[in-house]
Amino acid sequence: MPAQPHLDDDEFLNVPTDPSAIDPASNALLILLQGNRRFLTGRPIHHHDVVAARRWATAQHPFGMVISCVDSRVPVEAVFDQDFGSLLVARSAGHVLDQALRASVEFGVVDLKVPLLMVLGHDRCGAITAVVDAVRQGRRLEGAKAYLAEVIGPSVSVDGDDPYAATMVAHVAATVRALRELPTVRQAQERGGLRVVGARYEITTGRVRLLSL
Ligand SMILES: [Zn+2]
Repeated sequence: MPAQPHLDDDEFLNVPTDPSAIDPASNALLILLQGNRRFLTGRPIHHHDVVAARRWATAQHPFGMVISCVDSRVPVEAVFDQDFGSLLVARSAGHVLDQALRASVEFGVVDLKVPLLMVLGHDRCGAITAVVDAVRQGRRLEGAKAYLAEVIGPSVSVDGDDPYAATMVAHVAATVRALRELPTVRQAQERGGLRVVGARYEITTGRVRLLSL
């Protein structure tokens, strides 16, 4: 598998910005990518002050959900320049799906009816590095981290120029497939309102790229 497949997200950003002109899932994706471009160019509009926090104290209307890694260098609301109340975020090491994350996704899809799920992998992921290195060295990860190896293991690539990046991309694709197979997600997709996408966060540039999955 190539290490860096991505859609032409710049081209996607040129779709009409009138929300009524595109479906809710595409509009949600557009909002995320536009927010990332603001972040990328040093022009964020949300500064996470307490006024915004209080504005959303009684209700939330998230337009999408991001499933990402716990890595301290990937603060999702900052990466997409989103405010309080706008985005559901579920995080685990290496964005590994466990029962808690599946329940969180169900909360987003069924109860809050988000039209978009994005799996966001990232470069230099410690969880993925640990699993790839363990496979290469023929050893097991200890303790609860063994679960990470169990889930990420089938996506591990040990060949090529950058096996860590290749594994990350394959694992994002596997996570997207696993989400699409959840009964509640499948039902929402069949009704036509939900889209599941994968993306990659470039930790050295701050840029999010959609992956062709
Ligand atoms: Zn990570």
